[in-house]
Amino acid sequence: MTATNMDDLVSLCKRRGFIFPSNDIYGGMKGLYDFGPMGVELKMNLKNSWWKSIVYERDDVEGLDSTILTSPLVLNHSGHEDTFTDPLVDCRNCKSRWREDQIENGECPSCNSNDLTDSRPFNLMFKTAIGPVDDGTSYAYLRPETAQQIFVNFRNIIDSTSRTPPFGIAQIGKAFRNEITPRNFIFRVREFEQMELEFFVKPGSDDDWHKYWVEKRLEWWSKQGVNSQKLKLLEVKKQELSHYSKATFDIMYEFPHGLEELEGVANRTDFDLGSHTKNQKDFKINSKVKENKDSTTKLAIQDLETKEWFIPFVIEPSAGVERGVLAVLNEAYTVEESNNRTLLKLKSHLSPIKAAIIPLKRNNHDLVNLANKVKSGLQSLGLGRVMVENTGNIGKNYRRHDEIGTPMCLTIDFESLENQSVTIRDRDTMKQERVSLSEIGNYYSNYFKD
Ligand code: ATP
Repeated sequence: MTATNMDDLVSLCKRRGFIFPSNDIYGGMKGLYDFGPMGVELKMNLKNSWWKSIVYERDDVEGLDSTILTSPLVLNHSGHEDTFTDPLVDCRNCKSRWREDQIENGECPSCNSNDLTDSRPFNLMFKTAIGPVDDGTSYAYLRPETAQQIFVNFRNIIDSTSRTPPFGIAQIGKAFRNEITPRNFIFRVREFEQMELEFFVKPGSDDDWHKYWVEKRLEWWSKQGVNSQKLKLLEVKKQELSHYSKATFDIMYEFPHGLEELEGVANRTDFDLGSHTKNQKDFKINSKVKENKDSTTKLAIQDLETKEWFIPFVIEPSAGVERGVLAVLNEAYTVEESNNRTLLKLKSHLSPIKAAIIPLKRNNHDLVNLANKVKSGLQSLGLGRVMVENTGNIGKNYRRHDEIGTPMCLTIDFESLENQSVTIRDRDTMKQERVSLSEIGNYYSNYFKD
């Protein structure tokens, strides 16, 4: 089951501390959201799961954490200063602004007027002054994608790790886009995070690697609890491809507001490394890149057999963290009328709280002591956030933990003190089971296997 509409998710997220409008007490700012106590855990768990599958479980990917502030030279040579735009249309009547593809039948979506301007390119990058003098000459951009800094660090990484293609560089971090119309909760925002892998391959092997990464990424989303029936693969039409792409597959998901892009998997060819490289004329570069007189570095690799230098092609799976969070929340959202409850059936590795430990009686010294002991035992298994709920209200705690997706609640009662056992209640089945304290470690390890 999923949410019937976005409002259900927005309201649960606010009520239970997942996501709040940013700058809320000053009226908020459009397209900006903050992740609260539950949201920060869910987001971190999703990012950790991505990192684990992309970096730790493989032997051909290195990690990177680069700066957000990016030199205009980088974003000039990457093509973003010239082409990272959306077509903007103004309504002369109500003064609203739209992306051209949001206009239907030549009418303003807000006031229905036909008095619209022609569309013109609007650059989505945020610019900011650098240094103490703001005279317009010294500035940087907030990066619109994490990818460019990966390309710019390519030489540093191959020199320090001796990697040769095929290999990848992964990065998770903030990206900023001055979207014309941010909308649909955290789906389209102006500040977001991306999980990006740039996978460098020999020219000629790129089409096979492209297929490989599309499959891998679909598998990963399904391991996050996203129903594969709700994922659709869309090949982007040639005329709609980004300036760097030879082919792109968008992984589309049925969000509450419609079928939209969750992740893009692009074949960026040798465009980016080619654009940032010094002495381009020394190489056969497949894509059209600007002449580069600014770079100091040759971003090419020598084929050890043929001794020829070549610029690798790049396959890029690029996923938005916020869109991922929205998809997994939507998938997990369940209303059980018969039990009069709402719950999040999150995969246990994504749950913000891994276990709630509830002493039967509030402030009872012996029960709380045992609860704390159980908590440290569970945390030593590397489970993440485990909470002791010292309120004495079991029913209320069950309701809250169902709604935030805690897989299990452990109740400590007076019998626990006598025979060292606890009652474990499963979120999805609501079944309760008595488990001895010495068995809890095994019990949890089995539960969190996936
Ligand atoms: P869209 O067509 O929806 O604007 P895009 O094709 O411009 O997205 P990419 O440049 O491919 O997006 O960025 C990679 C990923 O980053 C997207 O698949 C998406 O998950 C995420 N992303 C891009 N823009 C935003 C945004 N404004 N808010 C949230 N996530 C975003």
